[in-house]
Amino acid sequence: DIHLDQITKSFGPTPVLRGISLAIEKGEFLTLLGPSGCGKSTLLRILAGLEVQDSGSVRIGESLVDGMRPKLRDVAMVFQSYALYPHMTVAANMAVPLRMRQLNAWQRLPIVGWVVPGTRRLSAEIDAEVDRTARALGIGHLLSRKPGQLSGGQRQRVAVGRAMVRHPAVFLMDEPLSNLDAKLRVQMRAEIKDLHRRLGVTFIYVTHDQAEAMTLSDRVAVMLDGDLIQVAPPQEIYADPDDRRVAEFVGSPK
Ligand code: ATP
Ligand code: MG
Repeated sequence: DIHLDQITKSFGPTPVLRGISLAIEKGEFLTLLGPSGCGKSTLLRILAGLEVQDSGSVRIGESLVDGMRPKLRDVAMVFQSYALYPHMTVAANMAVPLRMRQLNAWQRLPIVGWVVPGTRRLSAEIDAEVDRTARALGIGHLLSRKPGQLSGGQRQRVAVGRAMVRHPAVFLMDEPLSNLDAKLRVQMRAEIKDLHRRLGVTFIYVTHDQAEAMTLSDRVAVMLDGDLIQVAPPQEIYADPDDRRVAEFVGSPK
């Protein structure tokens, strides 16, 4: 479970988060829904430890996140831009988190005659994990291509695969479908829902698309101008919005 308590963040004089408190259950699919500029990505980046809050606390499981320290190995983020390395193959891109873990492990291992014990076995395990994950996502045949030789949907799957290989307990996804055309967006929506069902881990998903939020989520957190206005299951947000601005944003008849 994840606990956010009174998170605030400003960039210069501009407050971007104005005291966000939220508890997210283990295994839940929670969507942060709000218009452009309301602070969604900033909040997600704080959860990922990529940005530090000005005040308030973030707890994920037993550990406090105090920013800039990627000690939370069990959190993985999928970025809106996918952030793939263009010069590396799909396989190499997907292996990055595992290679980094391998490097960290090496620093703790003894070096015997310039050979790190177990290197070959570890590399074979990484290859096998990448292969398994790629096949599960339907991109097994693309492993030797470079990102520039892929369609938008295929790139998006590679970005998801790179997050999956670490078997994180929490997936953070920042508008992962926003670069895709409408038809593919609807198709990938179903795939993300299926992924959540199969993995059974916590998903925190950011979007400004209310249809996406309504179909994917266990709960939706509606965010406006740095505040959470309402956190509830999708039907409830639609049928019983707390506030006129929520009603307008989700297109509810109220
Ligand atoms: P979008 O849907 O367009 O991605 P968002 O809800 O994710 O929007 P954020 O990226 O969190 O919004 O940005 C919230 C506000 O903070 C915006 O006004 C943005 O200009 C500002 N902001 C974000 N990052 C920085 C930064 N590094 N320096 C200064 N201002 C920033
Ligand atoms: Mg954003």
